[in-house]
Amino acid sequence: MPTETFEFQVEARQLLQMMIHSIYSNKDVFLRELISNASDALDKLRLEALRDDTLDVDVSDLHIDIETDAEARTLTVRDNGIGMSHDEVVQLIGTIANSGTAKFLQELKQAKDEATAEGLIGQFGVGFYAAFMVADKVTLVTRRAGQSEGTRWSSTGEGTYTVEPVEDAPQGTAVTLHLKPVDQEDQLFDYTSRWKIREIVKRYSDFITWPVRMAAEAPAEQKEKEEGDGEEAKAAPEPETLNSMKALWARSRDEVSDEEYHELYKHISHDWTDPLETLRMQAEGTFEYQALLFLPSRAPQDLFARDHKRGVQLYVKRVFIMDHCEALLPEYLRFVKGVVDAQDLSLNVSREILQQDRQIQLMHRRLVKKVLSTVKEMMTQRPENYATFWREFGRVVKEGLLSDHENRDAILRIASFATTHDQEKPTTLQQYVERMKEGQEHIYFMTGESRTAIENSPHMEAFRDKGYEVLLLTDPVDEVWVETVPEFEGKELRSIAKGEADLDEEETEEAKAEREKRQEDFAGLLSWMTERLGEQVKEVRLSSRLTVSPACIVSDTDDVTPALRNMYRAMGQ
Ligand code: ADP
Ligand code: MG
Repeated sequence: MPTETFEFQVEARQLLQMMIHSIYSNKDVFLRELISNASDALDKLRLEALRDDTLDVDVSDLHIDIETDAEARTLTVRDNGIGMSHDEVVQLIGTIANSGTAKFLQELKQAKDEATAEGLIGQFGVGFYAAFMVADKVTLVTRRAGQSEGTRWSSTGEGTYTVEPVEDAPQGTAVTLHLKPVDQEDQLFDYTSRWKIREIVKRYSDFITWPVRMAAEAPAEQKEKEEGDGEEAKAAPEPETLNSMKALWARSRDEVSDEEYHELYKHISHDWTDPLETLRMQAEGTFEYQALLFLPSRAPQDLFARDHKRGVQLYVKRVFIMDHCEALLPEYLRFVKGVVDAQDLSLNVSREILQQDRQIQLMHRRLVKKVLSTVKEMMTQRPENYATFWREFGRVVKEGLLSDHENRDAILRIASFATTHDQEKPTTLQQYVERMKEGQEHIYFMTGESRTAIENSPHMEAFRDKGYEVLLLTDPVDEVWVETVPEFEGKELRSIAKGEADLDEEETEEAKAEREKRQEDFAGLLSWMTERLGEQVKEVRLSSRLTVSPACIVSDTDDVTPALRNMYRAMGQ
């Protein structure tokens, strides 16, 4: 096959432009991304070798090598992992699969300043393309395990890339960067410098479970030696391993810095921003496991996309088993990232078996409790973190009110809602109950499209007059869970837009007599209106809930609300 030239997908091209024009100030992270990919490739190869005995590969010496050439100004990251086929190279390197990309790029275009843009990039994580922050040309040579022909991919990042076959490529992948000139101002260091490489690997990739090595001497220097001094060249010096390879989750808390935890998070999540919270768990005894979970500080773009990948990484006795292990956490905690390392599972576990496994179910329960109790703790100990968490993930967590009956109360206790009590600050149900007025028996809420829409609703009038607080629920999921959650601390949750205004229950004898009299006075008008409106309404009645508006439409207690009807319609029902 001759050399083929391809165009990058539109989104990929836009991202590359941003990388070339260096929107991200910390350039060192390009190496973290390449090492992270190499590490993933080694994990995949080891797993595939385990599952497929016909695959003829040597997995006894898996590693990542970093080679520098100061003269040619190149840096190569080489792994002997799974590699990529010709089609995979085109698929994986030429396009961006993430479904949130378009939305992300839109936001990026609208970003007010560099800091915002950088934050967005961090949230997205650009992976392999980060190489173009420091290189003006990138070449990748790869051969997939089990295949005989290799592929060379090459690009300057400007719109197109070339792909051609390679006869003698070693199995795995080598990414070679042709480095841009050093520019201190732009934070472009000399990435051929051994100490710089050492420093970056130590800082960002220390926990990688495969050896990240650097040849003892640069190839160019070695050649000179070979010519000059034959003796020394023969005994090729051992490569230097730069990372400690220690599993962070197996080490005690005081041995590991927050930064180390954060870098592990970034490797796992492909997020570039520090996590909000790090959760450690260590269970000993008959069923031993360790877990490190992370709550991200921002919701990913694709949190509500169908193809959103969820779940933590599963290890068995320090050996990576799978990414996105869905069986360990429920859907409504799909944003949680991390590692779970179990001692007693089989290395051969499949996704199907996992769902049934009793130990997995037990871990699942404990992980959920740990996440919920951590959020509870954040509420009192780190209220700012809690506020961020709830803003980003609250609407996902509330899905648990529908699906997780066992933890429903715990979820209600960590939830907070917009309220008429405070324009800015949301309230918890606990706080609401504490503020309830003399004689108020229920927790009142109204669902709707926006805060303003609800506040302007005629339904609000009587409640505002009475000084009763109303929760303003505007997430689509609110429409659904309020139907299934009957009460909190013995207080019923009641929609102010449904049925007879609840306020009537609390009316005095006097008021009752008055209302009945008015009912009689208006009987003629009411029956006339009922007739005129015919099929469009069930009933026209006098209301005590309005103070300003002349009329309003209410639903029956068990009718679907207009917003819920819209949601069902959107779902195609
Ligand atoms: P991500 O790692 O988030 O998937 P990247 O841009 O870093 O995104 O990489 C894109 C894809 O290219 C990876 O998912 C992987 O399939 C493939 N890839 C990148 N580097 C390697 C490598 N060294 N070996 C094998 N596959 C790789
Ligand atoms: Mg990556």
